[in-house]
Amino acid sequence: MRHVYVLLLLMGWLSSSPGAQAQPEHSFFVIHCDPGFAHLWPKLRQMVQYASAHDVPLTLELSPQWVEAILADPARIDTVRAWQAWGHEIGAHHHGIYHCFWDSLANYPIDTIWAIRTDTTWVPAACEPGAYKGTLDAFYDQLDQLAGDSLLLTWGSSDEHPEVDLYPGVPYRTDGSRYDPERAFSNPYVVTHGPWTAGNQTWGPYTTCQIDYFFIDKPGKVNAVKNLYLDTNFSSNYSVAGVVTHVFDFNESPDYFYQWINFISGKGCKTVREILRQADCGQTTATHALSQNATLRAWPNPAIDQIRIEWEDMRELTIRDLTGRIVQQRHGLTGQAIIGVHDWPAGVYIAEARSERHIALARIVVQ
Ligand SMILES: [Zn+2]
Repeated sequence: MRHVYVLLLLMGWLSSSPGAQAQPEHSFFVIHCDPGFAHLWPKLRQMVQYASAHDVPLTLELSPQWVEAILADPARIDTVRAWQAWGHEIGAHHHGIYHCFWDSLANYPIDTIWAIRTDTTWVPAACEPGAYKGTLDAFYDQLDQLAGDSLLLTWGSSDEHPEVDLYPGVPYRTDGSRYDPERAFSNPYVVTHGPWTAGNQTWGPYTTCQIDYFFIDKPGKVNAVKNLYLDTNFSSNYSVAGVVTHVFDFNESPDYFYQWINFISGKGCKTVREILRQADCGQTTATHALSQNATLRAWPNPAIDQIRIEWEDMRELTIRDLTGRIVQQRHGLTGQAIIGVHDWPAGVYIAEARSERHIALARIVVQ
């Protein structure tokens, strides 16, 4: 016991001694792809290209309109797959009913939707009330298709009641501020959203692991974050520095974007999922937690005629091709499945197995 105490004292002394202060270990950069701007796809490509060339992985949080526009075009899907293979992350972005530019999807009861959209204490009169296009179910499905084998793990939205529209399978959430540069610095933290009831429905509670960002769109804002980052009296208190911007901001005047990438390159750049998986935030309620220990065995691999897939916890199995299209799905499994593949086109497929709480993945090849 005494040894532990001495060790703790020593560690405390080391970490508070001058010269031992370090800048945040990790950094991330989220790009918000907002509803109404999906035509700026070529601009997003420029952003990703520049970030890749400077070894900065991006977390691309896509609104429903962007996801639809990408899934409608095989060339765009290929581009997204190449980005994922490089190390960029596909996440979700959602403007809920409290946002001026609502993306038209909501899980709220219809009465609540119109009560909020027409209440100027929530939605300023200058904002369009918008049109209701349905619940988020279709968006969740499309996100799963687009994220493909890499899974959708990160959700970025602002809402009074995140538990209502939040994809319940998602363990990680980003949050932040437009006004306070200090919000660019945080340590991963756990939040429970809900439960919240409207009408006869209750949502949540959902527990997510979160990290914060500051919104940058001008060189002045980049400088504010840079100065805080370099001030280790401040920044050494945090393990993560994070920023967010919009594709439409880059489209208007991109200098700030290049300045931030040039500054942050080489400074612990990771995606949100990489940072939060390492952070060990404890158990979230999400179903999309990737199991660290699960071993999904598949053989023979490559396969010609049939393939046997085993994992003792497996209850469901989904196999997708590299465009995200589901080619096989099995439910009610008890740990194994034998799949005939003789009529499948040769190529690479991703097998995704689910237990009650975890997902395990395997890459399979059909010859
Ligand atoms: Zn947005």
